[in-house]
Amino acid sequence: MTIRKILTEPNKILREKSLRVENVNKDIQQLMGDMLETLYDAPGIGLAAIQVGVAKRVIVMDINRSRNDIGRDKEDINKKEDRESKKPMYFVNPEIIWKSEDKFSYEEGCLSLPNQFAEIDRPKQCHVKYLDYNGHPQELRADGLLATCIQHEIDHLEGILFIDYLSKLKKEMIIKKLSKQTKDNIERIVV
Ligand code: ZN
Repeated sequence: MTIRKILTEPNKILREKSLRVENVNKDIQQLMGDMLETLYDAPGIGLAAIQVGVAKRVIVMDINRSRNDIGRDKEDINKKEDRESKKPMYFVNPEIIWKSEDKFSYEEGCLSLPNQFAEIDRPKQCHVKYLDYNGHPQELRADGLLATCIQHEIDHLEGILFIDYLSKLKKEMIIKKLSKQTKDNIERIVV
């Protein structure tokens, strides 16, 4: 498994619509393995393939990683008890077939929008149809954080980022900040 580079906004690849996977073969499983390793290396609970530059409808998640885990260093995270607490989830061609009227508000972040957070309202529950790691059809009724995370990741497959739900002004401010961060990073590398 390989850690892949996570693309960050502004990057027009993140706005591409991902394509359906025809066959959950070894290549797709390899991609899922790499994505999971990339996710565990980063401070996140979900990752869509487009975030590593692959326009395929593939998502990996592990909402079992608490915020505490995320702040700890890698040595700690790799301890046995932490490995056992990992609960990876794989979704291929996920489709939301039902959403609740009730809303749930959560302060979302995104690995493609480093250090940016905003309170986003989404349906509190949703029902999802998808293929699992082995290509078998599955269904899942999700609630709360799990439902938020699935909806956030499925948005990525449509080229949508959580900042698209904010006012134009707030969204532009965030993009401006991120453009500056990227520029600063480049300057650092050059120096
Ligand atoms: Zn995201």
